[in-house]
Amino acid sequence: MTAPTADPQAGQAVKAADRAHVFHSWSAQGLIDPLAVAGAEGSYFWDYDGNRYLDFSSQLVNTNIGHQHPKVVAAIQEQAGKLCTVAPGFAVDVRSEAARLVAERTPGDLDKIFFTNGGAEAVENAVRMARVHTGRPKVLSAYRSYHGATAAAINLTGEPRRWASDTGTAGVVHFFGPYPYRSNFHAESEEQEGERALEHLEQLIAFEGPQSIAALILETVVGTAGVLLPPPGYLAGVREICDRHGIVFILDEVMAGFGRTGRWFALDHYGVTPDLLTFAKGVNSGYVPLGGVAISGEIAATFDRRPYPGGLTYSGHPLACASAVATMNTMAEEGIVENAARIGETVLGPGLREIAGRHPSVGEVRGTGVFWALELVKDAETREPLVPYNASGEANAPMAAFAAACKKRGLWPFVNMNRTHVVPPCTISETEAKDGLAALDAALAVADEHA
Ligand code: PMP
Repeated sequence: MTAPTADPQAGQAVKAADRAHVFHSWSAQGLIDPLAVAGAEGSYFWDYDGNRYLDFSSQLVNTNIGHQHPKVVAAIQEQAGKLCTVAPGFAVDVRSEAARLVAERTPGDLDKIFFTNGGAEAVENAVRMARVHTGRPKVLSAYRSYHGATAAAINLTGEPRRWASDTGTAGVVHFFGPYPYRSNFHAESEEQEGERALEHLEQLIAFEGPQSIAALILETVVGTAGVLLPPPGYLAGVREICDRHGIVFILDEVMAGFGRTGRWFALDHYGVTPDLLTFAKGVNSGYVPLGGVAISGEIAATFDRRPYPGGLTYSGHPLACASAVATMNTMAEEGIVENAARIGETVLGPGLREIAGRHPSVGEVRGTGVFWALELVKDAETREPLVPYNASGEANAPMAAFAAACKKRGLWPFVNMNRTHVVPPCTISETEAKDGLAALDAALAVADEHA
């Protein structure tokens, strides 16, 4: 692996240019100090000072195939030489091949693919399809969820990032999904949690009026809001409730899809087929922006003789589709999904549980594949979170200190509220995973000081 030559001066210039003109997502612009990235390969990236970071974040949980995979880079280069851009109204070889490969991997008759530029647009369009298909206005979504930051997607999002832009009139009703570690339903087992979450959903639908509800959207495995795996029977129960009330069931696989859980889609673990499936991130590891909606035969038929009222200039962009074709083919050829499952079972799962036993600040370990979370607490008995819900500034200091301790040890973590998520690329090797766990183990001593 060739590290870029260290050049601290160039790094300073990149930072200065960034500070002058780049406005960053989700940030107080005057309080941030973004790391300047000089290069990346596989599970690592480098800054301009020559420091190497093991990417336990996969950036924003998207580089499932690792950084700079040569086959994907080559496919983008080849496509760029051939055809860079063409409007969505034309038929293009790489677009139909990308659609075929996605459809081949999705269950049931989710056989038509509408391409977008990312996850939020996929969610926007899935909701629009459901509203037009049913003629109903409301959409249900979980409080513990993240569905994107565009108009409808941010309203569907349940976690606090919604608050600033919530209009309160978007026809969205939130519900509590299962969360055994912090049960809203006083459940004493996972099964009970799943059952009671379904009862809660039934009641909510009864009071909202089923005939007014177009869709229910759920992350198959809740990602940003905590890596929450659904208890046995929960997703099948939601499917049954949706069927009974004529509600379109949307599974959001933007983060969980394309190998993250050790299967192509997280839903493969649960045997449940939605009416619409949203994807992005891992479909091409984010090498070129891409997302989409996989659409059932019944919903696609709604738009057979009437136009679909939506579209995007870059829907099915050739460079994005070429990188998706190369990503999906390479993941199959190189057994990358199987690698994610194996690393989860043999290294990350046992390793994280072992680490947890040694650190009073770790309240719970949960996950599968390369999709894990450690929930950090002040007190394992009371489960009081290490930092308050939606902590910022001083209140968040313990998590900031923990993240800094990881970075000092060459590990780039994914930290959200009182949790650190362990979400490396699906390609990560056993040695890399073990190195990452050792760094995490050492950094957790900082969190223990606050426990
Ligand atoms: N849905 C889920 C489940 C996500 O995790 C995300 C992004 N973290 C989105 C939607 C939004 O995707 P994007 O940022 O590409 O718009």
